[in-house]
Amino acid sequence: MAATPTRNRRKHHYLFMLAGGVISLAITLLIISDDAEAIRSDAQPSVTGDVSSHTTEGTIAAAAHISKPLALPLKNEISSDQADAIIAPPSGKWKSLTVKNGDNLSLIFSRAGLSPQQLHQVLASGKEAKVLTRLFPGDKLRFKTTDDKQLTALSYDIDQTETLHITLRTDDSGRYTASTEKHQIDTRTAHSSGTINSSLFLSAQKAGLSDNLTMELAGIFGWDVDFALDIRKGDSFTVVYEEHYLDGKKLRNGKILAAEFNNRGKSYRAVRYTDSQGNSDYYSPDGKSMRKAFLRTPVEFSRISSRFNLKRKHPVLNKIRAHKGVDYAAPPGTPIRATGDGKIVHRGTKGGYGRTIIIQHGSRYSSLYAHMRSYARGIKHGKRVKQGQVIGYVGSSGLATGPHLHYEFRVNGAVRNPLTVKLPDAAPLAKKYRADFNQKSRPYLAQLNALTRNTLALNE
Ligand SMILES: [Zn+2]
Repeated sequence: MAATPTRNRRKHHYLFMLAGGVISLAITLLIISDDAEAIRSDAQPSVTGDVSSHTTEGTIAAAAHISKPLALPLKNEISSDQADAIIAPPSGKWKSLTVKNGDNLSLIFSRAGLSPQQLHQVLASGKEAKVLTRLFPGDKLRFKTTDDKQLTALSYDIDQTETLHITLRTDDSGRYTASTEKHQIDTRTAHSSGTINSSLFLSAQKAGLSDNLTMELAGIFGWDVDFALDIRKGDSFTVVYEEHYLDGKKLRNGKILAAEFNNRGKSYRAVRYTDSQGNSDYYSPDGKSMRKAFLRTPVEFSRISSRFNLKRKHPVLNKIRAHKGVDYAAPPGTPIRATGDGKIVHRGTKGGYGRTIIIQHGSRYSSLYAHMRSYARGIKHGKRVKQGQVIGYVGSSGLATGPHLHYEFRVNGAVRNPLTVKLPDAAPLAKKYRADFNQKSRPYLAQLNALTRNTLALNE
């Protein structure tokens, strides 16, 4: 165990060295972004220099001209605030105020030492200023004021991607101009590979993958691989995913675009695809859904307390009575999930079952959830539910010795053991999307090929 981290580190170091020479697509993308980065930081001072030394419109043209051949994002970056600065560099000093509980704009303006008339002028500066009437505690407003309490500029970060700028006009009208600056978010492609020594989470962490991405990875392959029981030392994974950047700083991870998981010598691959209707899902390279039509288990973090047994002695009635489902013991209130897409055909008490929901899935399948404490909000007879949607909470209503979910699965009306019944695959990708899918998935599969070749070479 002690040798593990060192070995892993060396592998990753080696991966980095290899990356420079061999790995093509993702690395190329990263290098391109890095170049853009370098260009940006080179270019910025010269533009700023222009801003501070000239105030004519000719300079704007010159600055815009400078930015063009360098990189597209630049054009965006010198948009509102710097462009405004060129037209009218607002004089005064900046001061930042934080919105408090129970605050309103008049209170904030008065704290900033500004008059109700100035507030009125700011709100009259344009439609975009309306966002100032929907402030939340914790929001920050930046005021630029002169010594004689004249507000010359105000700015407010609406969210991570937009900033409102309000600037005093130069025409001595005492009026303001409002504009919203949209920050450019760059999406880059990153990748990560690792070999499992003890657990997926530890190895993923060492490979630099966030916990959320690891959960997503496990979710994608969770239909084929039981991550609690099937993982073996030597299993490996490769993930290609999006990263979102704002002004060169990483904001957050995006979606997994493609991934491979090798479990006990068997290799699984998935590619994310979004159809023209905007529905996204993961498919194997041949267009099969990575999902099954049904979840195997309707409650997470539970333990099976009673199995499917047609000759069981009932614990409450104390006589032989078939146990037509599986019992999952879980703390009261644990969410219960619909195992497949379908329609609620029963919601209410049902004899010894207590509070019960039955879902019809197409014409062949139905599932039943009993002994619930309560139903989820909005769950009613006739309502359509999605796979994984919470429909209610674990309880002990009806004839139950303790809090548990009693779950039944029926095929053509006959009870089947939910733990062993062969579950149907979710619908494959529609034929009309296949050509598009093949075209869009090709580069990701090529990337996975390149990345896993390296991982394999490292494992030898
Ligand atoms: Zn039961």
